[in-house]
Amino acid sequence: MSQESLIFLSRPAVLACLDKLDPVEVAADVLRVQAAGRTEIPAEGYLPWTNSDGAYSRAIAMLGALHREEGPVYGMKLINAAVNNPSKGIERAGGLSFVFDPETARPKLIAEAGYLSAVRTAAYTMVSLRALGPERWDGITLIGTGALARAHLDLLVGAFPDVRTVVVFDLSVDRAAELVAWADGKHPQLKVTVAGTADEAIRATPVTVTLTTSSEPYLRADPFAPGSFVAHVSLGDLTEEVFLGAQAVYGDDLDLIEENPRRILGSLLQEGKVTRPGTVGAPERGAGRSVEGTLGQVLLGQIPAIRPKSGYVVSNPFGMSILDVGLIDAVHRTALDLGVGQRIDLL
Ligand code: NAD
Repeated sequence: MSQESLIFLSRPAVLACLDKLDPVEVAADVLRVQAAGRTEIPAEGYLPWTNSDGAYSRAIAMLGALHREEGPVYGMKLINAAVNNPSKGIERAGGLSFVFDPETARPKLIAEAGYLSAVRTAAYTMVSLRALGPERWDGITLIGTGALARAHLDLLVGAFPDVRTVVVFDLSVDRAAELVAWADGKHPQLKVTVAGTADEAIRATPVTVTLTTSSEPYLRADPFAPGSFVAHVSLGDLTEEVFLGAQAVYGDDLDLIEENPRRILGSLLQEGKVTRPGTVGAPERGAGRSVEGTLGQVLLGQIPAIRPKSGYVVSNPFGMSILDVGLIDAVHRTALDLGVGQRIDLL
């Protein structure tokens, strides 16, 4: 056997490992490590282009490190996407997750990352709902019915088994119908219905998750009733007034959010319309808008958890590499335990 080798995990091998894990617990653990100041998130590599169909395409390289008491974890997710991939019958996003050897720095595991990436994102939503969602809720709305919507339902049934009502909306009637058929087959306990408009879908339940590919904000504040929660996962759906009128706004990493003015909350932070906690001259809570802080800070009790009551609460997760690194590390350890994966000699 070559001295230099790594393990490769295909999608089926990744699924076998995820079956033995609780990704929601993994995400919550990473968020606590983050709030304790024991993580590193270097600047992302971002390469956008337009493909020959004129569709937005991009590669994102996301390095991250966790400095856990048990030892450090280093890794990366390469996640590429072309928005017209679903029209070719393939998922919009796909890529590879890596784990690095802390001593030699060599990659020691590579895994197919499309589903893993969707699961890590859905796991963050589940943690945010546990910590910041309504005290009681029995239905969820998904705006956008692609790969991320499926991953959210996959985790919902384990994290919130009492929630059975799912209302969806997608600009593509076909994609919405495909999701309903998929859910009927995989999660028959869920009652999934399609709403005629996004606003109608939002009004139907107290929890909304945006999972679209919209780059132009279009959702107004009006449909978000007092007592509701919105996870703005796709980052380009909520208009300015939704942030300014919220009871509370939380992020995952405020530097990452502010550094990206292509996304609405990043641009509001850069323009000073929304401020970070502790900013001199920041608007008082309730008048204007200050971000409360991060979900990790809530989990560690560093800042209060404001659940929706008099108004709605917004969660705006930019998407952190450390969540990918935490999950691929857990998958790696599980793969070693199960003996799954293909060893590849490099030299
Ligand atoms: P996808 O292409 O599989 O599905 C997106 C769906 O949204 C499509 O069915 C499309 O028809 C629909 N859509 C587009 N605009 C819409 C609109 N205005 N109203 C209703 N539906 C609309 O994409 P996906 O892989 O499921 O990803 C969804 C989004 O999640 C992407 O924008 C992606 O960038 C984002 N994402 C965010 C994070 C994060 O951590 N914040 C992580 C991963 C993905």
